Amino acid sequence: MSTDADNPPSNGASQAGHIRLTSHAGSAGALPVTWGAATPAERGPIVGTTASRAQRNVIGTHSGSYSVYRALAVAAGALSRDHRADLTNTAPTVTIGPHPQWSDPRAIVSLDPWGAMIAEAFASEITSGVDIRPTIAVTKAHVTVPEVSDAIAQGRLVPDGRILLASGAAVVTKVAIEPVWYLPGIADRFGCTDTELRRVLFEETGGMFPELVTRPDLEVFLPPIGGQTVYIFGRAADLAEPTVELTARVHDECNGSDVFGSDICTCRPYLTHAIEECIRGTQRGGAGVVAYSRKEGRALGEVTKFLVYNARKRQEGGDTADRYFARTECVAGVQDMRFQELMPDVLHWLGIRRIHRLVSMSNLKYDAITGSGIEVGERVNIPEELIPLDARVEIDAKMAAGYFTPGAVPDAQQLKQVKGRGWADD
Ligand SMILES: [Zn+2]
Repeated sequence: MSTDADNPPSNGASQAGHIRLTSHAGSAGALPVTWGAATPAERGPIVGTTASRAQRNVIGTHSGSYSVYRALAVAAGALSRDHRADLTNTAPTVTIGPHPQWSDPRAIVSLDPWGAMIAEAFASEITSGVDIRPTIAVTKAHVTVPEVSDAIAQGRLVPDGRILLASGAAVVTKVAIEPVWYLPGIADRFGCTDTELRRVLFEETGGMFPELVTRPDLEVFLPPIGGQTVYIFGRAADLAEPTVELTARVHDECNGSDVFGSDICTCRPYLTHAIEECIRGTQRGGAGVVAYSRKEGRALGEVTKFLVYNARKRQEGGDTADRYFARTECVAGVQDMRFQELMPDVLHWLGIRRIHRLVSMSNLKYDAITGSGIEVGERVNIPEELIPLDARVEIDAKMAAGYFTPGAVPDAQQLKQVKGRGWADD
């Protein structure tokens, strides 16, 4: 194909007739990656640039699903393909790691532990012209949520001027993480072979990444999905200290509840309850962390989620807890696609070895965290008064399915009686 593969035209519109196939080996100049190596120099940088094919040592490209918008920006002539990020002053506001888990190739398989420090770790490679980009960014913020202000007004939280300001704002470190998948490690987590995983990923993305099946030498994949955001309360270094009380929640995205306050589930109330617990725990001398994963609607997507809402509300007998999971499975084919197997990676990246208070009732999350070697002390359920009326169906169905509760587990007869609002009740 094109002989100018390493020097693509900067404007996508002018490349008619030149298609750069990625499916052939021959990137002799690409730097090797040794996943789980103890130092960044031995591990090697993750290079997912689209500007210089010879440098690429991964499948896929940076920014997850936003890579498609980057393509549109190039197509529109708004972005030059050879733009290089100017990383001046972008360094993390606080150093995280390295932690022992970073050099265990089985502990972290879905993110690049060195992703926040590439500018220093690979300074010479960057100077020599390799287009290496951060996959993690660490910054700080003041976060204000109305529920925390309510907690202050009701005396449950008291501002201390350091962790919680008089304005009601909590002082946090926040971290954005893009997915970086080490395919042999991902296959291991899901109990399949690397070859099977690559083939299914290739087919289920409509053949989007031919290298999955043609380039077994490339072991790292930058998948076109959302990543994670981590909010840290207190000192980031304390998260790795098993003796410091750690309050933690791992939360899966729910736009309807988290942002818009939709009352069919407990997502936002549980999230804000976790923030309150994190603040209180940090004020006691501990630390807190909320890891927020972009896995909308149990990773089924919001269209499927809304279809399920309709199916639940319109079924004969109405929206009852005993049929909560069945309705999802009817529409999606599965009850849940979040697969918590990869979730603990972010906790290991933070160096966490013990969570004293896990603010979650999910048995799937608990099993994934403890199964990955992190100890969990107390499990903190959502207080009854925070459960919206229409979300009773969800929470009772989940408790009956194995979610943690300090109270009684509803039986089959009770589940039939737990009923949500009907579409005609608005
Ligand atoms: Zn929700």
